[in-house]
Amino acid sequence: MPRSPLPVQDATASFWRSAPHPLDNHRSTPELPTTADIVVIGAGYAGVATVYHILDHCKTRGVSPPKIVILEARQACSGATGRNGGHLKPDPYNRPGSLASTYGIQEVAKYAEFEAKNLTAVKKVIEQEGIDCDFVYTRAVDALMSEAISDRIKAGVDLLKKNNVSVMDDVYFAQGAEAERLSGVKGAKACFSYTAAHMWPYKLILALLSKAVDAGVNLQTHTPVTAAAVTPDEDGYLALTTPRGVIRAKKIVYATNGYTSSILPEFADKIVPVRGICSHIKPGKADAPLLRNSYLIRWSDTEYEYLVPRLDGSIIVGGARSVYYHDLQSWYDNVNDDKLIDLAKTHFDGYMQRVFHGWEDSGAYTSKVWTGIMGYSSDGLPHIGVVPGRQNQFMLAGFNGHGMPQIFLSAKGVASMILDQLSFQDTGIPKIYEATQARLDNPRNSILESWKDAQRRQGAKL
Ligand SMILES: Cc1cc2nc3c(=O)[nH]c(=O)nc-3n(C[C@H](O)[C@H](O)[C@H](O)COP(=O)(O)OP(=O)(O)OC[C@H]3O[C@@H](n4cnc5c(N)ncnc54)[C@H](O)[C@@H]3O)c2cc1C
Repeated sequence: MPRSPLPVQDATASFWRSAPHPLDNHRSTPELPTTADIVVIGAGYAGVATVYHILDHCKTRGVSPPKIVILEARQACSGATGRNGGHLKPDPYNRPGSLASTYGIQEVAKYAEFEAKNLTAVKKVIEQEGIDCDFVYTRAVDALMSEAISDRIKAGVDLLKKNNVSVMDDVYFAQGAEAERLSGVKGAKACFSYTAAHMWPYKLILALLSKAVDAGVNLQTHTPVTAAAVTPDEDGYLALTTPRGVIRAKKIVYATNGYTSSILPEFADKIVPVRGICSHIKPGKADAPLLRNSYLIRWSDTEYEYLVPRLDGSIIVGGARSVYYHDLQSWYDNVNDDKLIDLAKTHFDGYMQRVFHGWEDSGAYTSKVWTGIMGYSSDGLPHIGVVPGRQNQFMLAGFNGHGMPQIFLSAKGVASMILDQLSFQDTGIPKIYEATQARLDNPRNSILESWKDAQRRQGAKL
């Protein structure tokens, strides 16, 4: 597979980016600096959180921070983080349950516990730093819409419970009529509820970025990196090429998610750009029901919507895979967030009326639809740590449309690897996230395997 293209220009306008922050198009200096201690590529959640932890680490130890430059291809936080569903939803049971047979129960328990710790850590930083980002601590309700999906997931849950995986203590299961009443979702066969949060991700990231810029970090938006040196020059610098000139860095952090292979070609077909679609729905009447939970509506293993109720009564709904998943080229290896997914662009019209009890006469209507590019990895896990085979180069990428409960503490771990030469094992990041040569050498592609299985189940001849 060819490497990913760079982010395209003129991306669709997301609800979250409707009022851009003053740093959206910021360049700290008119010229690109010629050198830096650390260059971070990508000003999304992963890049900005890494910078936050580097600065925090230095502050705690009373040492001056390194010279950091952030290079961003488009506007600040204009990638997946500025275009997502706003759902910070640690997954205690679904992915852990399905990964247990491959990685063992102990590793998936660490994975699930790490996601739960991210939720607490993000809540804490928002409170400590006084960040206004509409953060709401809530219960997520996952509604399972068929007996088959309910049975499949329940088997994984039972395995995790039997092995006393701690996060399962927070999970409540209901089925039959109770599931429909608890979730409010028409026809739900079963549901799980557990602790989660939602927020305005662009506001969180721009608040952290603003603190970093105030602390002296040099932000250069509209500066795509087109090439990165594999090995350092004789002075120990790694050259990064951009249309605005070359910058030489002692260390590089790749926080480029779906676009990683644009500059790390060894990640072509290991981290694949995958296009998703999301919407903002407004109630047409003042007395539409207020949803008290956030949601995942799961129609099958590969088809679902995620939903976040905002305190202003409007709703963010993303997903819509049931209408476009079969059409591979509309989402797989696709960086076109300047266009909607044709098959899905009207899917959100009437969604609340179709899916939720009590919304039939709400007059709810779609006020905005946008797309965004996720980074799906060929084994379904993010790649964190030292870039295999590259000295002084680090990465956090491939979050499989689920980065919000994974990134903050992964970034903390990477910051410690950079500043303290901590080994990956000592960071507390789950072992199965580690970027390794063995993962790069694995020829399997679980994204395409799942897609082919789903098409065959629906009778397609492939
Ligand atoms: C529609 C949609 C809905 C989603 N909903 C959720 C959700 O509800 N919950 C959840 O957990 N996750 C969700 N996700 C996934 C989540 O948004 C991501 O996992 C997370 O934001 C990834 O953060 P990141 O910083 O790694 O990537 P990004 O936010 O994409 O940041 C990467 C940045 O790198 C820049 N970049 C890339 N290549 C280069 C280059 N060569 N030079 C310079 N800059 C470069 C990009 O422009 C971009 O700004 C969703 C994603 C999408 C698209």
